[in-house]
Order: sequence, then C-alpha cells, then structure tokens
Amino acid sequence: MAQRSPEQVLKEHFGYDEFRPNQREIVEAILKGRDVLAVMPTGAGKSVCYQVPSVVSQGLTLVISPLISLMKDQVRALGQAGIPAAYLNSALDSRQQQETIQAAAAGGFRLLYVAPERLSAPSFLGLCRDMPPCVVAIDEAHCISQWGQDFRPSYLGINDFIGRLPQRPAVCAFTATATRQVREDIVRVLKLRDPVCMQASFDRPNLHFSTRRATGSSGPRSKDGMLKKVIEKHGGQSGIVYCMTRRTVEEVCDALRSWGVSATRYHGGLGAAERRTNQDDFVFDRAQVMVATNAFGMGIDKSDVGFIVHYNMPLDVESYYQEAGRAGRDGEPADCVLLYAPKDVRTAEFLLSNGYRESGEVDGPTRQELLRRAHERLKQMTFYATTQDCLRRFLLDYFDEEAPGFCGNCSNCETQFEERDVTLEAQKIISCVYRLGQRNRTVGKATIVDILRGSKGAKIRDAGYDTLSTYGIMEQESTRRLRFLLDALLERGLLDTQIVGRGNYKVVVTNSASAHFLKSGEVFRIKVPRETKRERARKRLREGASGPVGTPTNPKARRHSASARVAAPGKRAAEADPQLFQRLKELRASIAAEAGVPAYVVFSDRTLHEMCERLPCNTEEMLEVSGVGRLKAERYAQRFLSVINASR
Ligand code: ADP
Ligand code: ZN
Repeated sequence: MAQRSPEQVLKEHFGYDEFRPNQREIVEAILKGRDVLAVMPTGAGKSVCYQVPSVVSQGLTLVISPLISLMKDQVRALGQAGIPAAYLNSALDSRQQQETIQAAAAGGFRLLYVAPERLSAPSFLGLCRDMPPCVVAIDEAHCISQWGQDFRPSYLGINDFIGRLPQRPAVCAFTATATRQVREDIVRVLKLRDPVCMQASFDRPNLHFSTRRATGSSGPRSKDGMLKKVIEKHGGQSGIVYCMTRRTVEEVCDALRSWGVSATRYHGGLGAAERRTNQDDFVFDRAQVMVATNAFGMGIDKSDVGFIVHYNMPLDVESYYQEAGRAGRDGEPADCVLLYAPKDVRTAEFLLSNGYRESGEVDGPTRQELLRRAHERLKQMTFYATTQDCLRRFLLDYFDEEAPGFCGNCSNCETQFEERDVTLEAQKIISCVYRLGQRNRTVGKATIVDILRGSKGAKIRDAGYDTLSTYGIMEQESTRRLRFLLDALLERGLLDTQIVGRGNYKVVVTNSASAHFLKSGEVFRIKVPRETKRERARKRLREGASGPVGTPTNPKARRHSASARVAAPGKRAAEADPQLFQRLKELRASIAAEAGVPAYVVFSDRTLHEMCERLPCNTEEMLEVSGVGRLKAERYAQRFLSVINASR
C-alpha cells in the first residue's frame, strides 16, 4: 500500500479534518527522524502527534509512560480507531506478557506502551533488538527532572535503554507541565539531539477559572455550600472533586451522597480492586462525581468532564493546572473551581515538611534545597488562590507565557474588573514614554511605573528622571493598576517594546499609533482592575495631601472610540436540538455498553453536538463531522443516522 499522508491518517483513523497548532510540525519532525521536545497542555492533543507518524511510517513506536491505566485506555481507543497497539505492564500476567512480546516481534503493532521499569527487563531488551523501534516517545517527560514536582527515578534509566538499542531511534519527549528549568532538564538528561522544540500555548480558552474563599463549616459560604452550587449548576455532568487527604475524600464523598449525588471515591488507602471499580464507575458514567486525592487522574483521559473542584488548595501551580486541565478536554465550556480557606496553607506546609523529611533517597543539603523550592511553589499557589488579577493571566505567566491582563472568562475578570474610561491615564503613560524618548532615554516597564508614581528611589534620582514633567503625575495609582494599564497599552499596540543590549533587556517605546492617540483624543475604554479597599484608602490619603490630580480631557475631543476588546468567550452557540442530543447520547451509551468501552471513546459530546448542528443525511456527510473517522463511520454511522432521520 502506498504511504498515506499524515492528514489522511488523521482523517481516516481519528476523524479529524486538520491538525491543531503544533501537531503538524511535530508529526513532520518525527517523520523526518528528528528528536522532539513538545510542551503542550493537557487536552491539546499530544498523543495524536506520535500515533499518526506510527501509522504513516508503519514502523514500531515505543511509548514510555508511567501511567498504567492510561495505557489500557489508549490501546483500547487505538483499537477503536483501527490502529494495532498493545501494552506491557505489571497488570498483565506472564502468559499475556509473553504473547504480547511474540506478537510485537512479529511486527503486529504500530505502538507498544511500556512503563519505564520495563526498559531494564532482559526479555524486553531482547525484543527491542529483534524489532528495533524507530521512535521512542516519552510521555510525562517532566518526570525526569529532579526539580519538577513529579520526579520519578525510573525515568533516569531511559537513556541507558536507548544506548543499548542497535540503532538510535528518534527520541520524542512530551509533557504538559514544564517551567523553563524543567524543559532544560528534559533536553539535558535525555540527551536530546538538536530537538525540534514546540511549545504550544498553555491557554485553554474553554475553561472557566474561579477561586472562592470559604468561611464557616456550613451554609452557602462554606466549602460544602459552594461545592453544592457547582454540582447543581452542572446538572448531570461528570466532575472531579480533589481533596488533600484521604479523610477529606471520605467526608466529602459521604456528604455528596447524602445530598443525593451519585459519587464515588479514590485514594491510596483503598485496595487496588476497589480503586479500579470506582474509577471505572466514573469513566463509564455510573457515578457522576469522583472525589479523590491527587492519586487519581493521571492517565484518565475522560474527555467529557464538565467541572473540577479543588476542595483544598494543592501544593503547587503545576499540579493545580494539570488537575484542573482534566476538565473540558472535548473543548466544551467547563469549570475549574478552587475552594480556598487559609487553613489550607497550614495543612499544605505541614504535608510538605513531613513529606521531605521522609524522602530518604537524597542527601541532607539536597533535601533542604528541594524543600525550599517546594515551599516557594506553595507560595505561588497561595498567590493564585488570593490574587485579584486575572486568573488565566496568572497561570499563563507562571508557565512563562505572555497573556492579556483581562481574559473575561475567570471569576476575577467577572467580579474584580470594571469597564472604565482610562483615556487620561493612557495619555499620561504615553506622554511619559514620549518625554523619555525626547531625552534619548529608553527604559523598561518597571522604571516607567516608578517615574509616573514619583518614586524617591536612588535609581530614579541619579538618572535625573525626577526632573521630567511627567514625574509623579500618577502618584495616587497603585503599582498594580499602573502596570496593568501599561500592559494594556502594549497589548493594543499603542506602545511597543524593543530589545536592547546583550542582556535581552526589554524597553518600552512609542510608535506611530502612540502619536496618533495623543493627537486625536481617542477614547480609551477598557476593563480595568477595580480598586481594592487598600488602594482606595491610600488614594484618599494622597489626594487629601496634594489635592485631586488631573481633570478630564475635553469631551469634544473624544470622537473616536479606541477598540475596547472585551472577550466574549465561549458558551456554545445555542444548542441546536437538546432532545436530539439526548437521544444521540442514549444511543452512544448503548453502543458503548455493547462494546465495553467508555461512552466518549465512541464519540465525544462535541461530536454529538456537531451532529445536532449539521444533521448529516448520509455516511458521506457523517464523515464531515469532526470526530467521525472512516472506521467509526463504518461501525456506527447507520445507527446514528437513523436517530437523526427520525427526528427530522
Ligand atoms: P493530551 O494527551 O495532550 O492531554 P489527548 O491526546 O488526550 O490530549 O487529546 C485531547 C482530545 O483532543 C482528545 O479527545 C483527542 O481526540 C482530541 N484531538 C486531538 N487532536 C485533534 C485534532 N487535530 N482535531 C480535533 N480533536 C483532536
Ligand atoms: Zn481572567
């Protein structure tokens, strides 16, 4: 058979029309035999990146993953898509393992999933010499970094294993969580050779983030009260509630049941059989809500989770974002709610200190350093729980990604921001940059804020900035709000940044849009952070001392309105036909039950929604629905079409 193109494989086996951003580049790099480092958030579609090349090239791709439950799900889903795959792990008995190894040696599989511990087993090494993999894909690659939150010593054996292969395969590392340091670690420790590095945006626009401070042990403002509201809002949708300790899991699960919610639970204190049963109950929609410790979820790729509630604050932002990211993988709007009480910080500190005291694998000074970094991460997590700024911006900033200061789809943007005319403020800021330019001086954001606020610091005085006419003209504003306004001007192109010097120092400069803005008297109306109580009090104090600053500019001059782009993020276009959707869901449930697979493996909610919108008449039209591949169309299209036809 002639080699198929990646697009053909994507369409025929997975039913998708096009690659998402970055997927195409990664697939091409792998097909060229290049090493890859791919950093993509949960739900971005990492697995397709190595699954498609394995089918195109017809070689063997070895997937190293620490997640035993994921292997089973993925192999099952691949089977549904018509791609031969298998896994080898301790969940198989020795006869099953033997059979799998024989089938693999005969070239029967495109993908073989293994846990890192397997790499040192002689029988496995023997297999890999007879049937060398052309690609080794490493999932959850951040587990290789000692400095990450999820270090696994078994990952350190990967290099050794690759060295023993008759030919070095392309080595591709995938992770959903990586700060700069961890990214560097992955490249260094795995000895990636000139890797193609792809960093997808970490933004998940369909996720709504919120933080809620809880008070009391009962009533609407308590954690239970708020949890109840989230569950009510989501009707019968699946959701996960994460708790810090086993005991809390038990308590919350009992509470949910007493409210009549079908809930199940998962934590390390339960036996393996019960964990498996409870997990399946959740995956197969027999239980609506899973209450769990962070032991749950790695490797569950249930795509129709509508909400994630953190009943306690996690230990770091990496974990939080990974856990919250399990919501809405199908692209539908979903909620990520962090319930926070100050007590959570103390519990977390206690857990950290104890956890590190017990970790016997490292020497004293290293342990001290690990603990220090863990506390630093906890501090950042606490900032997230208490910040009044845009939550999405906070999260993206944490992963070194630039983002606007206002997303419009988080609890802070909804409650802590207000639309205001900030034309005068914008004029002052731009004037300040302009005056600096006249003196041939360019400075970074922090210095501009210092000048406008009239900082008495030595740096400002030594440079003579206190003699500028714009010095101190915004002294009543807080640094936070000034910084926000400055960023907003940069985002909208009314100011620019330039890189200067060898230190990659970023300075702010004016451009033609700045000049036009100052001349034309355009109105600048945007969502800005509300003043906090403290900011208001300070402002009053300062105004009392120096009299009100600034008068509104001439209203006549304000003719044009600068674009106040307010994101109106994604609630789904009014559902085409809720009854049809319900019937399609029922059909999906019975097919899933017949095939013994979870419902979303048959089709995702998103695919069903699209069927309701497009109302396909025949198999050809069905194939145009995103998520319907040829194989699934052959299997299921007729049954779905007859339900759709019956509703016309
Ligand atoms: P990750 O491993 O990065 O968390 P997955 O590989 O599980 O993400 O993919 C997340 C979801 O996105 C899955 O339901 C997957 O089928 C879907 N998906 C992946 N690639 C595409 C694509 N190109 N078009 C549409 N959906 C896609
Ligand atoms: Zn926001």
